Amino acid sequence: MKRQPVVIALDLGGTNVRMGVVDAVGSVRHSVSRPLGADRSVAGVTGEVARRGAELIDWCAGAGLHPEALCLAAPGIISAEDGTVIFSPNLPGWTDVPLRAMISEALGLPAILENDANAAAFGEFWKGGGQGTNHLVMFTLGTGVGGGIISDGILLRGSRGMAGELGHLTVVSENGRLCRCGSNGCLEAYASASAVAEILGERWTDDSPPPPTAREAYLLAAAGDSLCREVFREAGFYLGVAMADLVNVLNPEVIVIGGGAMDAWDLIIPVAESEMRSRAFRTTDLARRLCVRRATLGDLAGVVGVAGIYWCGVHP
Ligand SMILES: [Zn+2]
Repeated sequence: MKRQPVVIALDLGGTNVRMGVVDAVGSVRHSVSRPLGADRSVAGVTGEVARRGAELIDWCAGAGLHPEALCLAAPGIISAEDGTVIFSPNLPGWTDVPLRAMISEALGLPAILENDANAAAFGEFWKGGGQGTNHLVMFTLGTGVGGGIISDGILLRGSRGMAGELGHLTVVSENGRLCRCGSNGCLEAYASASAVAEILGERWTDDSPPPPTAREAYLLAAAGDSLCREVFREAGFYLGVAMADLVNVLNPEVIVIGGGAMDAWDLIIPVAESEMRSRAFRTTDLARRLCVRRATLGDLAGVVGVAGIYWCGVHP
C-alpha cells in the first residue's frame, strides 16, 4: 500500500524548536516542541535540527506515513530563494548560512526555508483565522512585533526576504522610543510585550513591588489598574496607526492578530480598531469592509504555514 505523503515542518524560535508532521490538507498529524540548546553556532543548531528532523522521520515510518520534504521556518532575514539565513537576531554570528542545503543533505530530503513570521501569516491564511480570504495582513504581538502580508493570495517576500516587517513601521515620527532595530518610533517599541514592560518600568513610581512584567501588567489592567490600562491603550493606539497605513496601502480583507497579546485583546484591539477606522481613507469603504480576527493556530502557525507554503507550491 502506498504510504500517505506528509512533510516534516520545523519552526526555529528564539528558545524552542516547534515541529510537526503535516499532511497535504494541513492536518498536523503529530507535533512536539523542544528547547533549543545553548549552542547557537551554525554547527550546533543545524546538528540539533537534523537530529529532531530524524526523530520525526522515524515517527513517520512507525505511523505508515511518507515524509517527502522538510519545511523550515527561521527568524531573521531569510532568502527563501537561496535557502539561506542572511542574518538572524536570535542566531548570533550567522551570516549567509545555507541552512536549507545543510539540512536537506543531512536528512536526505528536499527542503524549503522561509522566514518564521511569513510562515505564520501563511499558516493563518491557509488554515487559520484568515482562511477563505485572499488579502491578509497578520501582526504577531509577542516579545517583539512580527508581521506577514498575503496580497492576492501571494506571500509578499520582497527583494531580499524582508517584506512584512510590520513591527518596524514608524508610528511616532519625532522623539520616538528607541527600537532594537536601531531606528526610533517603531511600532515594536510601543506594542510588544517587552515595550509594555519597559514603558511601565519607566512610569512605575512605587519601589515595592517592582514594576510588573507584561503578563502581570495584563492581570493588573484586567483588575482595573489605571496605569497598566493606559499602557495597553497606548499599545492599541499605535497598532491602530500602523493598521490604518496598511489598510490604505494594501486594502486587505482581514487583519489577523496573533501572539501572546491575544490574552489582552479587550485592552488593545478595540482601541486599535477604532483608531484604524478613524484614520484609514474614509471616502471609500476600505476600513468598513475589513475585519480584524484572532489568529487560531497558536504556536503551530509557523509549522502549519511553512508546510502550507510547500503544499501550495508557493516556495521559490
Ligand atoms: Zn524598529
